[in-house]
Amino acid sequence: MTKPDYYEVLGVDREASDDEIKRAYRKLAVKYHPDKNPDNSEAEEKFKEVTEAYEVLRDPEKRRLYDQYGHAGISGEGGFGGGGFGMGHEFDLSDALRAFMRDFGGFGFDDVFSSGGGGGGQARKGRHKGHDLQVKVKLTLEEIAEGVTKTIKIKKLVRCSRCGGSGARPGSQPRTCPECGGQGRIRRVQRTLLGQFVNVVTCPACHGEGKIIADPCPDCRGTGVVRGEETVKVKIPAGVSSGNYITLKGQGDAGERGGPAGDVFVVVEEKESDLFERHGDDLLITLPVLPSDLALGTKVEVPTVTGRVSMKIPAGTHSHKIFRIPNRGIPHLHGPGRGDQLVRVVAWTPQNLSPEEKEHFERLRELEAGKVPPPGRKIYGG
Ligand SMILES: [Zn+2]
Ligand SMILES: [Zn+2]
Repeated sequence: MTKPDYYEVLGVDREASDDEIKRAYRKLAVKYHPDKNPDNSEAEEKFKEVTEAYEVLRDPEKRRLYDQYGHAGISGEGGFGGGGFGMGHEFDLSDALRAFMRDFGGFGFDDVFSSGGGGGGQARKGRHKGHDLQVKVKLTLEEIAEGVTKTIKIKKLVRCSRCGGSGARPGSQPRTCPECGGQGRIRRVQRTLLGQFVNVVTCPACHGEGKIIADPCPDCRGTGVVRGEETVKVKIPAGVSSGNYITLKGQGDAGERGGPAGDVFVVVEEKESDLFERHGDDLLITLPVLPSDLALGTKVEVPTVTGRVSMKIPAGTHSHKIFRIPNRGIPHLHGPGRGDQLVRVVAWTPQNLSPEEKEHFERLRELEAGKVPPPGRKIYGG
């Protein structure tokens, strides 16, 4: 498969500055981000494609190699001076998400919760890193308004307790790979139109691990990992919205044979509220009142996420007018303060009139005849 030109992918010219590249990438990445395009594999591919292009062009050394040699200059298998994305693995979605988060943040609150488990330390070359996992957490608006700590269960691969993750039957030892002598990499001469290059590639016999398991552990069949689950607590700050996520470093699948664990992305999903409609950090509620309340004015109690608030409706208020109660909405995720509570008052038309009510309405109709303005777009005076 031939890869498209990275400059074309980002829609920038070959002389583009780092800043132009970053801006072009950001625009495209936001457009194709999986959070914005759930279950859209085309968008996912696009997101990976633009991120891969960005990862090369943002790095002066990789960009130089790419300019000089094209895709061959930065291919994953060794490439020139290890310029690839690492360990001969395809640039996948989790790489792309990580790259995006690294430069543009997990929408600003990445790593609020950083666990000690795995992640850090020496990711020895050739070891298989565990997969990143995605977990959804559903939150009510009330939980979002307060911030909440959620306990979530993560089904994942955990280290095999029988062999301690080595993959070798207890009592036996992994053997040094005869192919690469334990280096995990072998040298290979490659001839191209541009000349002859010596590439260092991952050893195909041991997949870069430098060791071969002759007598595998029966529980994990040599992988060093087994199915399991873990319960973790995630602290979610107030003010999040659907699509925000928190990264739990090193809490994903355990890596095979002692490799580093992947991460968990905890993705927020907002439950629909029966009361409030969310507009950014403002909340809108619809409040039915009697036509007479609108005509005469009254005081009403309005539910908000921080409790009930009393509000005055002045005489002569039109139906559908929106009132604003400041600082009663959702706290801002970034910085202090919170949104407002918006209250849309609508006339509730009385139903099943009693003879007495009917009489009053008929009398009103006579008195108010001719007062309704003609149809138009600005009948409420804008
Ligand atoms: Zn085992
Ligand atoms: Zn080997």
